[in-house]
Amino acid sequence: MSGPLLPYGRQTIEDDDIAAVAEALRGDFLTTGPTVEAFETAFAETVGARHAVACANGTAALHLAMLALDVQPGEVCIAPAITFLATANCARYVGAEVVFADVDPLTGLMTPDTLADALKRVGGRKLRAVLPVHLRGDVAQLDALEALARDAGAVLVEDAPHALGSTATFGNVSERVGDARHSAMATFSFHPVKTIATGEGGMVTTNDDRLAERLRVMRSHGMIRPPGADPWWYEMPEPGFNYRLPDILCALGLSQLGKLPRFAARRKALTARYQSALAPLAPMLRPAVRPLWSDPVLHLMVALIDFAAVGKARRQVVEELRARGVGSQVHYIPVSRQPYYVNRYGPIDLPGADAWYEACLSLPLYPGMADEDVDRVAAALKAVLGA
Ligand SMILES: *Cc1c(COP(=O)(O)O)cnc(C)c1O
Repeated sequence: MSGPLLPYGRQTIEDDDIAAVAEALRGDFLTTGPTVEAFETAFAETVGARHAVACANGTAALHLAMLALDVQPGEVCIAPAITFLATANCARYVGAEVVFADVDPLTGLMTPDTLADALKRVGGRKLRAVLPVHLRGDVAQLDALEALARDAGAVLVEDAPHALGSTATFGNVSERVGDARHSAMATFSFHPVKTIATGEGGMVTTNDDRLAERLRVMRSHGMIRPPGADPWWYEMPEPGFNYRLPDILCALGLSQLGKLPRFAARRKALTARYQSALAPLAPMLRPAVRPLWSDPVLHLMVALIDFAAVGKARRQVVEELRARGVGSQVHYIPVSRQPYYVNRYGPIDLPGADAWYEACLSLPLYPGMADEDVDRVAAALKAVLGA
């Protein structure tokens, strides 16, 4: 054991974050108060979108996006196989069916080719949304994905929890993840391992006034207040949910958002240090590949490891790293392999997702890490892999 365990990710909560929460606790509103709108406004400005709608978590954000689009039972959404469960599950929440797209085995991202293949599997059904995931923080090829989705009569919904702060350049235009230039909506999560943390928390961004209004209505029970109605009056055209993000957590989110430039710079510096520290471990280990258009703030530092060449199973590598104080995680088991989806759709052949899953291992990456921690991870990998 060399030092305390480095987890693969963790929050950075500082005294002023705590003070912001304490102030909210002393205020008049614990839930729907002025800090909700303040957080939303600051978030929309940060990512360059017209609207941002705060909600309970990243999963609720995805569900709200499906509700805002009014996706119907039997319609289809396309999600990449390599993502967190929620990207696919949100379609099922509204009764829609999921078609899984394969991913590039070196980036982990859905590509125009893998989307084109998935489109063939939609068959005669109505496709409503394609949900690219900016896995690790690298940006999916949004311009080309948007064109394919549009031709198929669908919109993009970016599942962007990994990519707050990431930018990309398409055709000489620099874009921020969350600006929703190519998508109907983008969704975020503020789970403690994500780039900013509120414990539980989420956000949906959009440039569409009507979608923003529907997100707000469905976030709070589906209640509307017609203009000029009696002060106690509300109406429910259709049932929504209680997916609100409390004022207390919005205060934390607002405080954390102010630190995004610093957190992003730190993640970029750590990523650069990893790139050089890990270079000697090739070809046994190579970092996941960054696409040309992407300028990421990485959420995950994913190493792709040739475990057969190493002569050790991934489980053994994970355990030996842990014994040396290095935590790691696998992002992700293909969602298409989950028992629920296998029961529903049968086994699906997605060779890119399988190759990614076989090789991936997420190494510690969070703003609180020291430069020396990166060196410690690289040294542990060198010893464990026998490189
Ligand atoms: C974290 C995450 C979610 C879910 O967010 P929660 O806030 O945990 O509900 C969805 N999709 C992706 C890609 C995520 O990383």
